Amino acid sequence: MHPLLKRQLKKTLKNVAVDDGPWPEFLATVNAAYKQADQEREFVERTLNVVSEELTAANDQIRRDAENQLARLTDYYSRTLDTQKGLVLCYRRLPDGDFEHTLCRGQLSQRMGYPPERVEHHRLGKILRGPLLRRMQRIYQAGWVGKLKTLEGGSKRRGIRFLAVFHPLKENGVTTEVIVSAVEITDLKDTERALRQAKAKAEAADRAKSDFLAVMSHEIRTPMNSVIGFTSLLRTTELTAEQEHFVKMIESSGEGLLEIINDVLDISKIEAGRLELSVEPVEPVVLAHEIVAMMQSRTDEKGIKLRFNVAPGVPDQVNTDRARLRQILINLMGNAIKFTAEGSVSLDIEYGAANMLSFKVTDTGIGIPPEGIERLFKPFSQVDSSTTRNFGGTGLGLAICKRLSEAMGGGIEVTSEAGQGSCFSFTVSAPEVTEALAPLAEGDLPPDAQFLKDTDDNPSLLVVDDNPINRKVLGMILKVGGYGKVDFAENGAQAVNHVRDHATDIVFMDVEMPVMDGMTASREIRALARTTDQMPWIIGLSANVWRDTVERALASGMNDYLSKPVKREDVGASIRKRSRP
Ligand code: ADP
Repeated sequence: MHPLLKRQLKKTLKNVAVDDGPWPEFLATVNAAYKQADQEREFVERTLNVVSEELTAANDQIRRDAENQLARLTDYYSRTLDTQKGLVLCYRRLPDGDFEHTLCRGQLSQRMGYPPERVEHHRLGKILRGPLLRRMQRIYQAGWVGKLKTLEGGSKRRGIRFLAVFHPLKENGVTTEVIVSAVEITDLKDTERALRQAKAKAEAADRAKSDFLAVMSHEIRTPMNSVIGFTSLLRTTELTAEQEHFVKMIESSGEGLLEIINDVLDISKIEAGRLELSVEPVEPVVLAHEIVAMMQSRTDEKGIKLRFNVAPGVPDQVNTDRARLRQILINLMGNAIKFTAEGSVSLDIEYGAANMLSFKVTDTGIGIPPEGIERLFKPFSQVDSSTTRNFGGTGLGLAICKRLSEAMGGGIEVTSEAGQGSCFSFTVSAPEVTEALAPLAEGDLPPDAQFLKDTDDNPSLLVVDDNPINRKVLGMILKVGGYGKVDFAENGAQAVNHVRDHATDIVFMDVEMPVMDGMTASREIRALARTTDQMPWIIGLSANVWRDTVERALASGMNDYLSKPVKREDVGASIRKRSRP
């Protein structure tokens, strides 16, 4: 019988006879169940033992692998740290306020005179003495509290410069250790110093060149002016045809030379940083119109169209440098005409955001190939040498335009395609003059251009032109000249109505207009004189200056006749004719 069953029977069935009846069979079954349980327990125990041994073996293997891996990595990092050119240093703060190095690796340490084995696991107080120790303790402390992030240092004696980065390690917000990694920057510093010296030298040389050019061109300009002046005086004397021809040649060569000298003077002034802008109220549309007018004869000669467009919103007056703006425009317009044999040249003006006045000069000329565009704005550069032969020039114009537009708060850009034409656009900062139009002061204009109205004369004026730009330009010329009473009409019929209803002293009358042309309108205005006492002074305006047209204009009742585009000084002269016939 199973000993456990025996013990149970003894304990619980002391006084029961278990040899009779069903007991033996029952007990045999229970006994068999006990044995079966024993066998199963033994089996489970054996199995558990086997599995546990296997697990232990696997665990040992994993641990060994991990240890090997860790050893390999440690070795690898250790070698990397040791062989690196820089330095990795870790330190912690000791309760007495000194610092202990927990790690020191890298060649920089050795080269600075501190072999790593003399640093690692040693206190700062053991390695250094005196003021150097106190200085380094202050630096370590600043790194510890996170006040020092980077430090540039080195040794003059050893010729070494380095850059160190401090990185505090924290646990629960408390610094436990600081890692310092440093790289040597000796070569970098040497290169930087050499570059800085080279730059200073180059700048000094450049300034010297610009100064030299500025002085030379100034010195040459003075005698050049007298050469030109006396040449023109010489032309007024009695000369043979041959002499006259020679004098003309001297004069035009002299003027060409003066232009080059002026360009050289300009570029050297700009490059020496001596460009001074003189900002004043400028009427952009009038200024641009004057330049277009000036260029008209050249485009007429070449048989190309000259267009001028003003976008809505361009202010009457802006603050900018008149002479410099004029110089850029003349340069770009001059180039556009020079490099265009057929088609057109146009000038567009726009006023954009941030008070920027922008001009666009578009031509249908020879264009510029992509490789030429890159050096276009460099001084003395021309697109190719054959261009130089065909067209002449110094290659300074665009360089000057670029620097001027930048100095005036804007910039210049170009788009172009060889054979198709070019478009140069530039901007200048030009805040609108908001107070009442500032009339020119006496002396602002050269004497022959002056047409300021007499103080006691305040005539009523009427500008008649179908083209809005022309109306605007003439209106501005008059306003700036001090004429306050200016009205406008778009055609002859409107002009006649205006004169009938309003006292009008001077009429600027375009000749070609829709609805009613200028000559018809002049005749009608003269006819009005029979019923009213209106006898305005009529000044005809037309691009057409054939003698018979002028005669017909005068016969129609006009008092004077100006060719378009009108010039400031001609307007003044014509008005003066009225007051002093
Ligand atoms: P310059 O005209 O005195 O030689 P610029 O600096 O004004 O000097 O122009 C430099 C060069 O750029 C010109 O020689 C020409 O090759 C090219 N260029 C300038 N404007 C134009 C244009 N509108 N069309 C074609 N080429 C141009």
